[in-house]
Amino acid sequence: MAQQRVSAKVQTFTESVIREMTRLVGARHGEAGINLAQGFPDFAAPQAIKDAACAAIQSDVNQYAITWGAKEFRNAIAEKTQRFLGLEIDPEREITVCCGATEAMLSALLATLDPGDEVVIFSPFYENYGPDCVLSGAQPRFVTLHPPDWNFDRDELAAVFNERTRGVIINTPHNPTGKVFSREELQFIADLCLRYDALAYTDEIYEHLTYDGAEHVSMATLPGMRERTVVVNGLSKTYSVTGWRVGYTIAPPDITDGIRKVHDFVTVGAPAPLQEAGAVALRLPEEYYASLQQEYLVRRDLMLEGLRGTGFRAYVPQGAYYVMAEIDELGLGTDVELARHLIEEHALAVVPGSSFYADPDLGRTQVRFCFAKRRDTLERAIEALSKVGVSV
Ligand code: GLN
Repeated sequence: MAQQRVSAKVQTFTESVIREMTRLVGARHGEAGINLAQGFPDFAAPQAIKDAACAAIQSDVNQYAITWGAKEFRNAIAEKTQRFLGLEIDPEREITVCCGATEAMLSALLATLDPGDEVVIFSPFYENYGPDCVLSGAQPRFVTLHPPDWNFDRDELAAVFNERTRGVIINTPHNPTGKVFSREELQFIADLCLRYDALAYTDEIYEHLTYDGAEHVSMATLPGMRERTVVVNGLSKTYSVTGWRVGYTIAPPDITDGIRKVHDFVTVGAPAPLQEAGAVALRLPEEYYASLQQEYLVRRDLMLEGLRGTGFRAYVPQGAYYVMAEIDELGLGTDVELARHLIEEHALAVVPGSSFYADPDLGRTQVRFCFAKRRDTLERAIEALSKVGVSV
């Protein structure tokens, strides 16, 4: 038998199911396909930031930026963090600009974890965190979020923390469930981090997308947590530019030093002209964020209303831009079978729930819809969904 030419590490994970669904619906249906799978908007990014990106390229900001981020962009990140989280961040020593929040999270884990270390992850979870742990040699320890509110059992969480626990990944607002962790829940997690000298890696990419009065709380703002939290964030979701691949970490100086080293050797730097545009984006006025939130609330409600009566039982998200739904009443097979059926028969892509769980069986009766879409896209999707199961 031919020798395996990929590493044992890489053999333990598969390609991203989220991105596979995007490809499948595109290959099968082209423009006619409706993609509610991968989390990206199908509407335009703000004109001001597109203009800023074009202007930066035209004025020849076309060479490497400083490895850890263009100064003006880091200044803008510090200003925005002060504005929204009330935290004083040193842009010279505590910020690393990366290629998307995806690279930011991986670089943070690679910079802080060694083989044998354990990382706590709430499940279901954004699928990248699994391979991230494998690549950084750490052992994930999963703690279940229980529907309908996606709460965790505090005893279960306390029981997984031990001397080997190096950190906990918190994604709030949460992908795929839309859970927004409460201050009280975060305080409980923080107390465990303090007790076990663990870090918090907080993916806050959906920070501005909250509904029904849910409040985004950053772990870094809790007492004693600023010096043990790596905040991961980026431009993708807040400014509708997922393809720009601009993200960042905010972390204490010693951790930032480590992250910068990893980031340097993996990517050298994030796109220079897009960081110029990022500085413009982060300085958009308050009204921008208010209307972003309002527009997403309308999309969420349209999606939920559309799912009513279809046989997909939706959980109401308090944040982010996804809806998880139960599919058992449809009688159309497992999550994967249904996802394939939706692509084949209805030109509609969703993400099978199992891709968000370490134990795939836990997600076999769920699928995820992304509602970061134009009204007409959502209406077409809803029309397709209203026909699912009607013929059976
Ligand atoms: N975060 C988005 C999602 O969950 C996009 C993932 C990606 O492809 N990077 O769909």
